[in-house]
Amino acid sequence: MSRERGAGGAAVSAELSSAERDRILAKSALFAPPPAMLADGRRDLVGLSREELAAEMVAIGEKPFRAKQLWHWIYHQGVTDFARMPSIAKPMQAKLAERFVVGRPGVTTEQTSTDGTRKWLFRWRDGQEVETVYIPSPDEDRGAVCISTQVGCTLSCRFCHTGTQKLVRNLGAAEIVGQFMAARDSYGEWPSPKDGTARHLSNIVVMGMGEPLYNYENTAKALRIVMDHEGIALSRRRITLSTSGVVPMMDRCGAELNVNLAVSLHAVTNELRNEIVPLNRKYPIEELMAACHRYPGASNARRITFEYVMLRGVNDSPAEARELVRLLRGLPAKVNLIPFNPWPGSPYKTSTPEAVRAFAAIVEEAGYSSPVRRPRGRDILAACGQLKTESERARKADAA
Ligand code: SF4
Repeated sequence: MSRERGAGGAAVSAELSSAERDRILAKSALFAPPPAMLADGRRDLVGLSREELAAEMVAIGEKPFRAKQLWHWIYHQGVTDFARMPSIAKPMQAKLAERFVVGRPGVTTEQTSTDGTRKWLFRWRDGQEVETVYIPSPDEDRGAVCISTQVGCTLSCRFCHTGTQKLVRNLGAAEIVGQFMAARDSYGEWPSPKDGTARHLSNIVVMGMGEPLYNYENTAKALRIVMDHEGIALSRRRITLSTSGVVPMMDRCGAELNVNLAVSLHAVTNELRNEIVPLNRKYPIEELMAACHRYPGASNARRITFEYVMLRGVNDSPAEARELVRLLRGLPAKVNLIPFNPWPGSPYKTSTPEAVRAFAAIVEEAGYSSPVRRPRGRDILAACGQLKTESERARKADAA
C-alpha cells in the first residue's frame, strides 16, 4: 500500500485497493437491509436521494420538481404527514399518502440520564433494534448524536459490548438518517436551524453500533442527505465518522465525503491491537497510519481523532503513551482517552485515574490534545449495545 513505490508499484497497489474495496462492498451486500416499504406496499420516502425521489414522482405521473418540495418538507421542516405540507395541493397530498410514507423508527426505549445524555433503542419494521445516543456538551447548549450503522457488528473488538452481538444486517440509508431525525423529533428541533443559528443537536458522530465502512454505501447516502444544504444542512465539519481501520474504504470515504475522521486505535503495537481490535490482523497499524496520512483535509484546524480506551494494565503504561506519540508524529491529530465503561462479563477493568493522568500528560507534553472523556450516562446502560441486550433479554423472558 505504500505510496513510496515506483509508478508500477503504485498502479499495482491501486489495483489491490480497488479489488479489496470490491470484496468489502460485495460482502456488505450480503447483509443488505429489507426494502424501505410498509406491509401495505407504501414506500418510505426517507433515505431516497434527490434523484430517486424525483424518479418516484415521475413514476406516479408527477413533475420531478415535486421532489424539491418534498425534500423541503421532509428534511427542512421535519414534517411526516403529507396533509401538513401546504405548498402541495390537497389532491396531490392524498395521492402521495396512498403510495408513500415519511417514516420514523419505532421507539422501544427512551431514557434520559441525570447528566442529560439521552439514549434511544429504535426498532425497525423487521423488528431489529439499534441504539442511538445524544450526548449534550457539558458547558454549551449543543451536543452530538451518536448514530449506529449496523445491527450488531462483525468486528468483535474485545472491549466493546456490541462486539459480542453477531452482525444481523446493515442499516439502510433511511434507518441511518432516521435515527438523527427521530432524535430531533424528541427535542423538537425542526425546522432545521439556518446557518449561524445555534443547534441543540449540532453534531453527528458515526460511532454507534457497527463499523460504518463495512456499510459504506448506505452510510454515505445517509450522510449526503444530512449534509444537503436544502434540508438538514449539517456541515461535513460537524460530522465525524469513526472506523476501526477499514483501510481501503478510508480512502474512498475521504475522497467522497471528506467528513471528520476518527480512528479506534486502542493499542500501539500490532501484537496487542491484533487482540483488542482483531481487524488489525487484516490492516495493521502501519497501513492504518498511512491511510490517515492520505486522508484529505486533515489540518491543525481539522485533526484526526484517535480513540483510545484505557484498559487497566493492558494498554495504559507510560511506554505505550510514548509509542503513541511516535505513531502520531507528523499527523494533525488529537487523542480521546476513554476510561473503559465496564459491562457484565467484560474482560477488562477501567484504568486508574493516576494511570490515565500520567498517560494524558505524556501525550499533551508532545503537543497533542488528549482530553479524557468523562463517562456519560452511566445510569442508563450507556456502554454501546447494552440497551439492546437488555431489551432482547426482556423479550425472551416474556416469551418463556
Ligand atoms: S468497537 Fe465498533 S467496530 Fe468494534 S466491535 Fe464495537 S461496534 Fe464493532
